[in-house]
Parts: sequence; structure tokens; C-alpha cells
Amino acid sequence: MSATNSHVIIVVGAGPAGMAVASSLAKAGHEVIILNRDIKFGGLAEYGIFPAKLKLRGGLKKQYWDMLEQPNIHYFGNVTIGNGKDLTVEDLRGFGADAIVFSTGAQGTKSIGVEGDSAQGVFHAKDVVFHFNRLPGYGDRPFEMGKHVGIIGVGDVMVDIARWLIRYKKVERVTAIARRGPVERKYNPKEIRSVCSNMDLERITSEFARVKDRLAAVGQKADDVLKGLTDEFTKCEPPVSDTKMGFRFLASPKRILVDAHNRVRALEMEENKLEPKGDDTAAVGLKQYYEFACDSIVFAVGDKVDETLGLPYKNGVFVTNPNKTANDPDDASFQAYDETTGKIVDGVFLAGWARKASEGLVGIAKRDGDWCAEVVNRYLATTAAGSRSGAKIVLDKLAIALKSRKSHPVDVKGLHVLESIEKQHQGEADCIGEFKYASNQEMIELIEKGKA
Ligand SMILES: Cc1cc2nc3c(=O)[nH]c(=O)nc-3n(C[C@H](O)[C@H](O)[C@H](O)COP(=O)(O)OP(=O)(O)OC[C@H]3O[C@@H](n4cnc5c(N)ncnc54)[C@H](O)[C@@H]3O)c2cc1C
Repeated sequence: MSATNSHVIIVVGAGPAGMAVASSLAKAGHEVIILNRDIKFGGLAEYGIFPAKLKLRGGLKKQYWDMLEQPNIHYFGNVTIGNGKDLTVEDLRGFGADAIVFSTGAQGTKSIGVEGDSAQGVFHAKDVVFHFNRLPGYGDRPFEMGKHVGIIGVGDVMVDIARWLIRYKKVERVTAIARRGPVERKYNPKEIRSVCSNMDLERITSEFARVKDRLAAVGQKADDVLKGLTDEFTKCEPPVSDTKMGFRFLASPKRILVDAHNRVRALEMEENKLEPKGDDTAAVGLKQYYEFACDSIVFAVGDKVDETLGLPYKNGVFVTNPNKTANDPDDASFQAYDETTGKIVDGVFLAGWARKASEGLVGIAKRDGDWCAEVVNRYLATTAAGSRSGAKIVLDKLAIALKSRKSHPVDVKGLHVLESIEKQHQGEADCIGEFKYASNQEMIELIEKGKA
């Protein structure tokens, strides 16, 4: 079964990065064991990318299915690594694999430290995205979005959330709130097509008039910028609601103001100006404050990694080796690093959003996974083949540990059971995408019945 140069690698996380790592290492002849928190593989390709993007999601799914059929890939869904979870990082290190790659994405929530953010009507983008993608634990929880939703952030995730609010929730108004100005918007112009038929052009024009002088102070001509922004409103998807969408620029949220029921009633904002910063600009607060009325707020300001996982962590990211090694590509380090000891964590690597939180699209995560696999391969070349444990020994140790923790791992056979049941439910999808199970429990019961 194994090639003579075969090593055993554990990959934690089956999103686009982890699947790329696993695919490359399996192609190189190694035995790869994938452990994934979600029962299903795909990560954000399953539970993040907007559900209506059926072509992109379907293409990735097919690719991942083909990969998982490889005899040297062993998949275990529903297995979470972390302190107090199914297995700890130390457990994994004790199984005797030759390398471990963490491609667990950016599962932590970035807070911008705004007072009042525990009020009703305040949401983090990731939770909202998991909700409309029906990730078990989120799909069935109520998300009361109110009438006027302020989304803090102007990237692609803001657009996805606006899309859901406009096309499915049909709220009255959505405002994207930016610390800087329209020039510094981060979304991809193609993405805005899903919401541009709902743009409130009159309000957008008056918002530009409001910030015109502050744009001019850094050489930005408001009229030209407005034209550039609205020229992107082409090939708009036909409207399905009366929702009005607009922008608020040069605004930093300072405080969330609530009503007597602790429900959001407004955001206290600080006016900003722009200052040049190298080739870019920086927002500088003007200490002028005002209330911006809205009854829901979504923070779409990026994510950080999950610090409870058990890897060396600092300032929102897992720490990687600051000293370049011969195995690394030019501009990146994939090896975990412990600053307290000043040593690399031997045999432990990072890939994708676990290495660089919220960085780029699926293609970037895949490329990161491919690069990581190259680095791991070079590392393994310095380790005698099978110097540690063979795949069977590692798999046996894993099975014993999971049994003793009363975990319910789901293998590829189990996934096939789910897939065949899903096919029977096609056509029962909610308006937003394909059929999804409500809970892990439901999936596990169906798998057990299907396998019996
Ligand atoms: C809202 C949103 C919309 C997006 N839309 C697009 C788009 O339209 N097109 C596009 O190309 N890109 C899109 N992206 C970007 C794309 O989803 C990411 O680039 C990519 O998913 C990152 O891959 P990853 O494997 O690093 O992480 P993830 O996709 O997050 O995968 C992480 C995996 O790790 C597992 N995991 C997490 N924690 C643990 C743990 N403790 N133990 C075990 N397993 C764990 C999870 O179950 C998951 O399977 C979008 C991202 C977001 C947030």
C-alpha cells in the first residue's frame, strides 16, 4: 500500500488549504490522515462561500470527493483538535506521525473593542455566514436582523452579507460602514453585481458630498471616485426586494447605543480624516462624534485564528518560524515556532488561513496548501522513511484515543451515506442553496442507520 519513501502526515482541517496539502502529499506517495471539525469536508467552501455560487462550490466538491477516494488518504470528520476537544495537539504529536499540518482556518472572532457589543442585534460576520450556510449549530439559531443593518467593513464578506440581507431577508436598509473612504474599498467589483440594483444612488451621492473636502485633502477627487464606484454597478442581478443599500465613509464606530430592551438603536461614530501613509492612506479620528441610527450591526472586519487550539499564538495569528530555513519558499514560513523556547515546533506546520488569517480567496488558500506540502516534503526528505510509525500504527493509536474520548468520527463511507440521502432531498433546498442537515446528531444518526 505505501510507497517505499512513504511517511505518515496528519492534516488537521479539510478546507481548501488542507485539501491541497493532503492532495499533494498523497500524490507524493505519503499516507495522509485528515482530521476535520466539521463532519463534511470543504471548510468555507461548504459553509462560507455564498450558497448561490453553485458552480464554484460544486466544482470544489467534486474535486474533493475524487481526492478522498485515494487509498492513501484517511478521512475523519467530526473530530475537533484543541484544549478540551476530542484530541489535543499533544495527543496528535504522541501518535508518531512524521509531520502534522494545521490548516484549521481562522476560527477566532476579531473584535474591534466597541463598547456595547454584547447588545441584541450585534453579530459577527462569520456567525451570520455560518447561519445562512446552515453549519450545524448556526443554521437553526435565530438571527433577528432588524430593519436597518450597518455592516462594518467594505470587503467581499460585507457584500455576501448584504446580498443575504437584500435578496433573502429583504430588510429595509443596509449601510456598509468604512473607516476610510471609497477609494480604499476592498470588495471585488464583480461581487457587487449581486447587490448593485439595490444601491440608493441619491444617498450615495450625498454621502460623497459630505466627505468631499476630506477626500480632496489627500488628492482624491470625489466626482471621479463616485463615477468609478458607480461605474462598477453594471450587470447587476435583477432586484428582488426594495432594500436600499448605501455607504458611510470616514466613520469609526466607537460605541453601540441600545434601547430599554438592550437592542441596538444606533452607533456612536467618530468622524475621520485621511492622511497619506506611504503609498496608502490612514484614517485619523477628528474627535467629532455623532449618532448613526441602525437596529443591527454586523462586524465584517476579518477573523483571527483560534487561540484555544494549543499552538503558539500571538496577536491573532499562530506564530511561525521568523528565521528562514532552506526548506522555505522566499517570502513565507510554514513551520510553527515557540517564542518562549526560541525553537521551531518540530514537525508541525501551518497552511492557509491558519497561517495568514482571512487572506485571499480559495485559489490563494490552495496555493498556500501546495507550498506547505512542498515544505513538508523537503522536511520529510531529511527524515528516514518510516522512521517513526507506519500508517497502521498511527491509525490504531488514533482509533483508541477517539474511542476513549467517546468521539464519533465520520469516515468517507459515512459521507457517502449522507450524500445519497442529500440527493433524495434535492428540490427541498431552502431558497438560498442546496439541502443541508440541521445538526451533527441528525447526520450521525442517518449514517448509523445507512451503514446498518
Ligand atoms: C464569507 C466568505 C465568503 C467567501 N467567498 C469566497 C468566494 O466566493 N470565492 C472564493 O474563492 N473564496 C471565498 N472565500 C474565501 C475562502 O473561503 C477561503 O480562502 C478558504 O476557505 C480558506 O481555506 P482554509 O482551508 O485555510 O480554511 P477554511 O476554509 O476555514 O477551512 C478550515 C477547516 O478546518 C476545520 N477546523 C477548524 N478548526 C478545527 C479544529 N480545531 N480541529 C479540527 N478541524 C478544524 C474546519 O472544519 C474546516 O473544515 C470566502 C470566505 C468567506 C469568509
